Amino acid sequence: MQLAARQRFGRIGCKGLKGALLLFLGFSAQVLGAGLNSYVDLIARDSGTTPRYGVRVTYLGTNGYQFEFDGHALLVDPYFSRVDLLSIALGSRLQPDMPRVAEGMRHLAPKTEVILVTHGHFDHLLDVPTVMSRTHARLIASASAVDLAKRAGASSGDSVTAGDVRRIGPWKIRVLAATHDRLFGKVPFDKPETHAAGPPQRPADWMCGEPLAFLIEVGGQRIYIDSGGTPAQLPPREHVDLAILGMALPDSRVRLPGALEHLEPRYILPSHQDNFFRPLDAGFQFGPLTDFPRVRHDCEQANRGRLILLDYFRPWTLPKK
Ligand SMILES: [Zn+2]
Repeated sequence: MQLAARQRFGRIGCKGLKGALLLFLGFSAQVLGAGLNSYVDLIARDSGTTPRYGVRVTYLGTNGYQFEFDGHALLVDPYFSRVDLLSIALGSRLQPDMPRVAEGMRHLAPKTEVILVTHGHFDHLLDVPTVMSRTHARLIASASAVDLAKRAGASSGDSVTAGDVRRIGPWKIRVLAATHDRLFGKVPFDKPETHAAGPPQRPADWMCGEPLAFLIEVGGQRIYIDSGGTPAQLPPREHVDLAILGMALPDSRVRLPGALEHLEPRYILPSHQDNFFRPLDAGFQFGPLTDFPRVRHDCEQANRGRLILLDYFRPWTLPKK
């Protein structure tokens, strides 16, 4: 083995095992991963006859959404680069994939005012400075996520914590406490590995920070969104029209019945279920650690709200009550 290669493998050392497991899961998913074809009856999308009033929701992949109302647009966790699993497992330098970001942004409304970010991991925050520079949108995120975004080139950021409220245009945004699912028993990339003040480079530099959820009120409709969580922190007891609940990992599935009991949503949209290591143009494929049959079963058992799925870049207008 070349010296440089040996040093490189030495550095990834004990992380190599997890990396190998992730790789195995990823490659298994390439072969075995199901798409949305089995669930066409659950896919919601606008048709030519859909009334245009109400909030229009566009799924951007991973946990990314665009919400549009009355000519205004708000984004949550926009992530188009879709860095491959090998780069993450090896701890490679991460950079936004500019052609992919540009392609993803073709689907966005011309004027975005606000970007909400649930936490600092790369699959939520990596592309945000680039999207901000092209939209001049205002970033609302935790203090550590704002700090990361600024170190990665964002010109500004409004750091918030649970309990804060922001009113921007037609949007009323309530910031809520949340938790992050565990992977192999712990929250991934939980703390800073170094105290470097420079730009975040490796996957672990995009640390989680304080996970947040948001309650977005607009045009008389209420949308709850998070990126996952644990039973230790359920959403507030608030009736909502749409609950977007992260479902990437087992912890968030355990808390699903409790979350539905608290939110009593009219519509339930499980999120963060796709294999986000594949490019968006490869189409939606469930991630290796998801379990949508169980999610569907638990939603049917709870009998609260209508379960829906969204496909990439296919807008759906949330019907008024
Ligand atoms: Zn995360």
